[in-house]
Amino acid sequence: MVSMKSDTGTMRIFKADKNGIQAAAEKIRQGELIAFATETVYGLGGDASNDRAVAAIYEAKGRPSFNPLIIHVPSLAIAREYVEFTPLAERLAQKFWPGALTLVLPRRKGCPVSLLASAGLDTLAIRVPGHRLALEFLTACDRPIAAPSANPSGGISPTTVHHVASGLEGRIAGILDGGSCAIGVESTVVGFHEGSPVLLRPGGISLELLESCSGPVRIHQGDGSTPSPGMLQSHYAPNAAVRLNATSKMPGEAYIAFGRDYDQIADVNLSLTGDLTEAASLLFSALHLMDEMNFSRIAVGPIPDIGLGRAINDRLRRAAAPRDNRQVVNQ
Ligand code: AMP
Ligand code: MG
Repeated sequence: MVSMKSDTGTMRIFKADKNGIQAAAEKIRQGELIAFATETVYGLGGDASNDRAVAAIYEAKGRPSFNPLIIHVPSLAIAREYVEFTPLAERLAQKFWPGALTLVLPRRKGCPVSLLASAGLDTLAIRVPGHRLALEFLTACDRPIAAPSANPSGGISPTTVHHVASGLEGRIAGILDGGSCAIGVESTVVGFHEGSPVLLRPGGISLELLESCSGPVRIHQGDGSTPSPGMLQSHYAPNAAVRLNATSKMPGEAYIAFGRDYDQIADVNLSLTGDLTEAASLLFSALHLMDEMNFSRIAVGPIPDIGLGRAINDRLRRAAAPRDNRQVVNQ
C-alpha cells in the first residue's frame, strides 16, 4: 500500500495484492469507506449492513437525498441470502453474473442490509461484479457492500484511481487500485413488474444481449410502475456545457467524435473504428479530460443508439441536461 500526498491530505492507495485487499477490507469492517475498481466504474464501497457506513457514503458523495444504492456481493449463492429470486431472475443471474447486470429484487425477511441503503424500499438492487479484484475484495470484506459510483454527486463517474482521488480526496479512507475500468459505464439495472423484466437503466450489458436471455424487456418510461428513484435528468455532468449530436465544432468548443465521420474536427475520438465497447470504456475519461483542460463547452458527435451506444447516449443526455433542477440524480 502506498500513500499519495496532496494539498487536501493523504489518500491511501491499496495495491491489488493479498495485503492490499486485506487492509482495504479491514477498513470496511471498521465502518470506513473504500473506493474499489470494478469492471464498470470505481465504486464507493461501505458496509451495507452498517447504517453509519451507509450514511457516510451519502455524505461523502454529497448526495442531495437518499437515492438507493447497489449492493455488491461475491456470488449468486450469497445474493440468494439477501433477495428473493424468481426463475427468470435466476436465469439472468446465471447468464450474466459475475458481470455488469444489476437486478432489483424483493428483500428477503431478515436481510441484514441497512434500510438506508435501499432508501426504505422493500426491494434491493444487487449484483456480482465481473472483476477479479472486486470479487476478492468482497470476499475479504465478508459482508454486503453498498457501492454507488465513487464521484461527488452529479459529477462524472470515475474509471481510474486518479478520477476517484481528484473527486473524493479527504472524504474516504482509501482506494483499492485496479487500474482502468474495462467497461467504463455503469451496470444495466433491471427490475421486474408483475414478473416481466423492465430496463431501469441502460448500461454495460446491452438490451439486445439481455433480451437474448430474457425475451422482450420493457423500457422503463417513468410511469411509476417500477420505481427507479435514481433515473432523473441531470447527471454525469462535466463542468462544461455539453451539446449533443453535433456535426460541426463551434468556436471555443472541444469536440468529442465517434468513428471517422467527424474525426478531422475532433479533440478526442472515443473510437476511430466505430467500436461502441471501446467508446464506452473511454467516455468518462474523455469528459474528465475536458474538465481538466478547462473547456467550458463540449460538442459530441452522433453515436448510434444500439448495443452499448444506448448506455453511452443515456449518460451523454444526462450530462447535457439543464443543471438547475439537479435534485435527485442517478449518482
Ligand atoms: P448507482 O448506485 O449510482 O450506480 O445507481 C444505482 C441505480 O439503481 C439508481 O438508478 C437507483 O435508483 C437504482 N436502484 C437502486 N436500488 C433500487 C431499487 N430498490 N429499486 C429501483 N431502483 C433502484
Ligand atoms: Mg453514479
